[in-house]
Amino acid sequence: MKLTIFGAGYVGLVTGACLADVGHQVLCVDVDAKKVARLNAGEIPIHEPGLDAIVARNRSFGTLEFTIDVAKAVDHADVLFIAVGTPPDESGAADLKYVLAVAESVGKLMAEPKVVVIKSTVPVGTSDKVRSKLSQVLASRNVTLNFDVVSNPEFLKEGAAVDDFLKPDRIIVGTETNYAREVMKELYKPFNRNHDRVLYMDSRSAELTKYAANALLATKISFINEIANLAERLGADIEEVRRGIGADPRIGYHFIYPGLGYGGSCFPKDVQALGRTATELGYDAPLIAAVETVNNRQKTTMFGKIAAHFGGADRLGGKRIAVWGLAFKPNTDDMREAPSRTLVEALWRSGATVTAYDPVAMPETRRIYGDRPDLVFAPDKYTALDGADAVVVCTEWQQFRAPDFDEMDRRLASKVIFDGRNIYSPEHLRRDGWTYISIGRPPVT
Ligand code: NAD
Repeated sequence: MKLTIFGAGYVGLVTGACLADVGHQVLCVDVDAKKVARLNAGEIPIHEPGLDAIVARNRSFGTLEFTIDVAKAVDHADVLFIAVGTPPDESGAADLKYVLAVAESVGKLMAEPKVVVIKSTVPVGTSDKVRSKLSQVLASRNVTLNFDVVSNPEFLKEGAAVDDFLKPDRIIVGTETNYAREVMKELYKPFNRNHDRVLYMDSRSAELTKYAANALLATKISFINEIANLAERLGADIEEVRRGIGADPRIGYHFIYPGLGYGGSCFPKDVQALGRTATELGYDAPLIAAVETVNNRQKTTMFGKIAAHFGGADRLGGKRIAVWGLAFKPNTDDMREAPSRTLVEALWRSGATVTAYDPVAMPETRRIYGDRPDLVFAPDKYTALDGADAVVVCTEWQQFRAPDFDEMDRRLASKVIFDGRNIYSPEHLRRDGWTYISIGRPPVT
């Protein structure tokens, strides 16, 4: 099938590349001319394992193309995906201006019937808004053309996006018409060989499914962080508690790792947007609000531990703190809402210098903060430790999991590890004379 994808970001690019890889003829269109030029030069603007190969392969076959030409993009296909950003507006609600701008372009340019598929995460009722926008623009042109609007939210995880897209747990298709349902069935057929993964529902339920999924995952994280904070005060070990509760299949081991709070481009904004939806309805949703409150507080806990260790925030001036990992999670260079940002900004406010190492997110960090004397990027994880007063693990990249502790000792000015991901063994570090402060576990001092 011929498909057009509006937006060549994390979701649009992965969607386009994977749909091309199963045989569709895909054109990705983006308003960011620089991004499109890079893609046309064979560069991948984001770090996503496996994506380069798929993009390269399909570019060479001619099954995946990139353009900034909106008219060409609308004309290219009968099925048009919207995968543009939906950032929070000032009130925390999802800002639909990019989604509606695409709907407007499609309405202005379409010359034959289209199926418009919303892949962006959008509040309940957005399919209706896109439908009205299209009708309105077509009416202003005095044109009558059939179109369908489908809600097809995306559940891929950054860092595993290609795998997730190619082997989805489920594909949600929210539509009110049989025609759109058949089109979507055909389009996703290659992903359905093993078993039917498509769940059909109405568009409002599909839209809510996406928010409910992200809000529940965020709830699990805030819940375990809440328990971790209690464990610290009670002299319990959250890792024992985590294993103890995860063994119950009704709870499971997934997504109950304590840490520095969730970040990224989805959970924070989606929890906020769901809360905003509730407010707009006049419905009090205290659980959703608490998930966000707990998370915001959790992002500040590591700074509190560091400040306490050094005798107060006012004693951090002139200290050098090494930070291992900047991205909001491993295998991505995405820094949006990363807990590392809350930490390094607090360290800077106290006059500390940060020496950071992240396998892929340093260019993005430099883009965000620019060059500043209190941020030094190290070429590798050990160099980041040279002369530092402590190291903080912010992201559990594989290469941080089993470091050479003797080498760390040689490099650091003092044997102090703050572990925001609980990846080291307190017993081991106690034996070797480290000060080791983690999340929800008794400190090793
Ligand atoms: P992104 O910021 O990486 O990409 C959005 C792209 O859309 C940008 O390249 C931007 O230039 C482009 N764009 C904006 N207006 C446009 C227009 N009128 N026409 C064409 N292109 C336009 O965003 P993302 O992370 O890919 O997220 C996109 C949507 O998918 C959001 O709603 C997000 O919530 C949702 N989502 C994201 C993830 C994720 O892990 N990133 C997962 C599932 C769902």
